[in-house]
Amino acid sequence: MTVDELFAPDGPLAGEAPGYEFRPQQARMAAAVGETLARGGGLVVEAGTGVGKSLAYLLPAALWAAPAGRRVLVSTHTRALQEQILDRELPVVARVLRRLGQPLRCALLMGADNYLCVRRLERLAQAPELLPDSSAALLEELARWVKTADTGLRSRLPQLVAQGLWRSICRDPESCPEQGRFCARCLYRRDRERAEQAHVLVVNHALLLSSARLPHSDALVIDEAHTLPEAAAAHFGATVTLGRFLRLAEETGALARRIAAARGDDDGSLAQAERCAARCAEEGPAFLREIASRCGFAPDAKEPGGRLLDEALDRSEPQSLPELESSLAEVLRLSAEGEDEQESRALQVRAAALRRELREILELRTPETARWIEWFPF
Ligand code: SF4
Repeated sequence: MTVDELFAPDGPLAGEAPGYEFRPQQARMAAAVGETLARGGGLVVEAGTGVGKSLAYLLPAALWAAPAGRRVLVSTHTRALQEQILDRELPVVARVLRRLGQPLRCALLMGADNYLCVRRLERLAQAPELLPDSSAALLEELARWVKTADTGLRSRLPQLVAQGLWRSICRDPESCPEQGRFCARCLYRRDRERAEQAHVLVVNHALLLSSARLPHSDALVIDEAHTLPEAAAAHFGATVTLGRFLRLAEETGALARRIAAARGDDDGSLAQAERCAARCAEEGPAFLREIASRCGFAPDAKEPGGRLLDEALDRSEPQSLPELESSLAEVLRLSAEGEDEQESRALQVRAAALRRELREILELRTPETARWIEWFPF
């Protein structure tokens, strides 16, 4: 069946999409997508609101990929569009293909922090003394839920999880073993396997641009392509946020306390790591506040952002940051083999990355770089 026949007013799409209205622009776009996939090469389409662009590429893409066992990668910028594609449009496309006797497999793959990590969840659930009561109850519920769940996607969890707690139980690529060596009850593995089997795989621009290993694909559709430069700047640039300082400090302090409690002894290194973490949690925000103020963003500034001025950067990194990195080497030395060791290494990688990106911002002053600061009172 041709793409034109699929989109015809009395075609299979009309039979499967409630309220379907034939739109010549949509049919024309779909035909162009189908032709491009068949002959190879690229196609740029600009179409206004209401044309039905997603179906105009999804249906020909699915028709091209599924019968031949190919895979089309669809990249979008916003989560809203991903959900629309996954929950509303791909089910219609799958029904149309089913009418033609062709099964279609679709999947979504998102960045690491969109997935629950069963290992981190169980580890935290075993240390309820570190948690407020409400979090302990929620973790217990999640620990029950994971036993029968088949996805680790945050949006599919049975309960909303506050961001602070989520950071401690989401997948952390630094401590997650390489693909193929997943933990026994890993839910992310199932999402990953579905992605590897999919004919149509939906990802976001950040993942597309990242070095994360995406399954091989035979064609690529970039939706919301006008946002790709912005996503690329965010991905390839250096960004230092208040949250990075605070999370690093908070997690280092918690790990040092946990190791000290497990060992029952400390040669002073763990207490030192805890003190460094506490200093970093103070110096990081003070450092950012000072730079913001040097750029003219006082706590009551009306403008939310502006150029990051060279003269505002004439200073060195907060002293506690290199000290924290050295302390983490000591924490690693005292970590028992296994979970603590993995977490220590992951925190070391994060501390080094934060220092590296901060140095880039402070020192790299070439005409090719653009630097920007955003200011939210804290
Ligand atoms: S493989 Fe990674 S995501 Fe899965 S449970 Fe283990 S650490 Fe977590």
